[in-house]
Amino acid sequence: MRYFTKSKFKLATECPTKLFYTGKAEYANAKIEDSFLQNLAEGGFQVGALARCYFPDGILIETPNDEAAATATEQYLKADNVTLFEAVFKFENFLVRCDVIVKDGNQLDLFEVKAKSCGFTEESGMLTQKGTISSDWRKYIEDVAFQKHIISLARTDFSVRAHLMLVDKTSVAPTDGLNQKFRLVREEGKRRVQIADTLTKADLTPQILRAINVDETCEKYFAELINDYRFDDYCAMLADSYSRDEKIISEPRSVCKDCEFRLANDETGGKLRSGFRECWSHTLGWTDADFEESTVLDVWDLRSKDKFMSDRRIKFSDLTEDDIKPKPDGKPGIARTERQWMQIDLGQRRVVEPFYDRQNLEREIKSWTFPLHFIDFETSMPAIPFKEGRRPYEGVLFQFSHHIVGEDGVVKHAAEFISIEPGTFPNYDCVRELMRQLANDDGTVFRYAAHENSYLCAIREQLLRDPIDIPDRAELVAFIESIANPRKDKDEAWTTSRPMVDLLELVKRYHYDPATNGSNSLKYVLPATLNSSEFLKAKYSQPVYGAEGGIPSRNFTNQAWVVEKDGCVIDPYKLLPMMFADESENDYAAIMEMDKIKDGGAAMTAYCKLQFEDLPAEARNQMKAALLKYCELDTLAMVMIYEAWMAEISLKPTKSG
Ligand code: SF4
Repeated sequence: MRYFTKSKFKLATECPTKLFYTGKAEYANAKIEDSFLQNLAEGGFQVGALARCYFPDGILIETPNDEAAATATEQYLKADNVTLFEAVFKFENFLVRCDVIVKDGNQLDLFEVKAKSCGFTEESGMLTQKGTISSDWRKYIEDVAFQKHIISLARTDFSVRAHLMLVDKTSVAPTDGLNQKFRLVREEGKRRVQIADTLTKADLTPQILRAINVDETCEKYFAELINDYRFDDYCAMLADSYSRDEKIISEPRSVCKDCEFRLANDETGGKLRSGFRECWSHTLGWTDADFEESTVLDVWDLRSKDKFMSDRRIKFSDLTEDDIKPKPDGKPGIARTERQWMQIDLGQRRVVEPFYDRQNLEREIKSWTFPLHFIDFETSMPAIPFKEGRRPYEGVLFQFSHHIVGEDGVVKHAAEFISIEPGTFPNYDCVRELMRQLANDDGTVFRYAAHENSYLCAIREQLLRDPIDIPDRAELVAFIESIANPRKDKDEAWTTSRPMVDLLELVKRYHYDPATNGSNSLKYVLPATLNSSEFLKAKYSQPVYGAEGGIPSRNFTNQAWVVEKDGCVIDPYKLLPMMFADESENDYAAIMEMDKIKDGGAAMTAYCKLQFEDLPAEARNQMKAALLKYCELDTLAMVMIYEAWMAEISLKPTKSG
């Protein structure tokens, strides 16, 4: 029996065609297969285990066999009162496995546990002002509503209430070290969560998870039409197609951009089939040549993709300037729509040379103070706090890298910080070290994107409200206020004397390389710039990085960054050692792919493994070494982009060292 489960329903809500590709080994799939690793990457694997601790009488239905679990569930439900973990309910070809079920007489309470924070106590917090389900909460409601529907069909003798069990962001950890009491262990190659014997009642009081009844919101959801179907008819149709392994054809839409079955053939060595190609070939009649062209899915920050898709104006060659209507926005450099049209226009004309706004770049560079400092943070947001009094999902800054470039063009990897000791809260030490590093001069500090600024502001807040004795609290706060801008969405106000410069914003305004295909992520801009800059090619094709008399490095020796294959520079990130040698090839590729979209995702996953998984010392050391190299390359990448700009506008020669 091919049961239609809640994970299949979730997949179908993204796109029903995915049901056909899922689970088939011949199709490339960019999703992480190991659910524990997936949860680790999303920072939430501990929440499910913690939730169970709040139901001390709960009985775990351990068998992974669905039929046996369904039979065991039936048996247990014969008792008047019982709490079950992983209870299984079947109805026809539907099957759901539930996080927590509490039976009291003929009342069944379903609790779906989610590693998602909430700051409200009533389900109305999940609605928009108009009373509809908010897009933020929709996928959680869909999940629990589906379960409620199937249980109600399977057990008409019960009245079913549905609850979401969420992380209460207004709560604080009652004790120190709570998150170290839920660890991942591997047995016979499989991961499971192990709860420490030292877990006490005090650890669980007050609770940091909150159950919110969502029955009314489920009713709203049931009343909606899905693709012109009533909810129950839609579920029946999906389950029927799935059981017969019949493909449901969907119209190509903007969601295809992030479809897990969309992998370039070369990434799988041509061995695996691409669901994306099959979908689009079937629906649009596309041939291999059509797939060579860029599409509206690639256009940076284009908000009307679906409109173009439904009009069947998908490839760059289908678009005209009038579709984008580029216009300046009164600020220096190229405006958003101008950049979009530039991308399409250069793509249509097959131009490969990058665009530089030399005049504005020169003006910006002349406003900077040397030496220049390039910094990059690696961070994490564990659901369960490290220390008593800390809130769930408080940011943890565990690593930075720092490159310096002098006025004479001399580059050096000046410093780094990393803290991976399990249970250590590293934020203040990390900021302290950064302050020490930047104290020697008043050179301009660079970041890439808003991340570093946001984290510094969050740590300032932590410093201000932390009840522990921090002797240099005022100094640390003053340092943060000197380089970080107050966040506009928070009630913060101070004057920044040495504000960090966001290199990403400068890229967006003054630099476009067609090889990035519209992505401004450092993971795309660096390889593109290395390919197009003759200066970088000449300098970094030599093994000067980390070489004696070359560029000082803390983690590399005699490294050449320009290594060509088939006339193209290999992405430097692909020259780095594997971050996780113990994961499957597919899962490793999935994490690295995720990292390209969500910069820092791979480092965060590595940090969570180092914090919460029992790993042999050798694996820990390898992971730490890889983290140091990745972070160093991130700040070196910023330096290289700066060097390419300098060479491009010929402000002054840049030394090779
Ligand atoms: S490529 Fe698009 S239509 Fe095909 S499965 Fe993915 S999201 Fe659905």
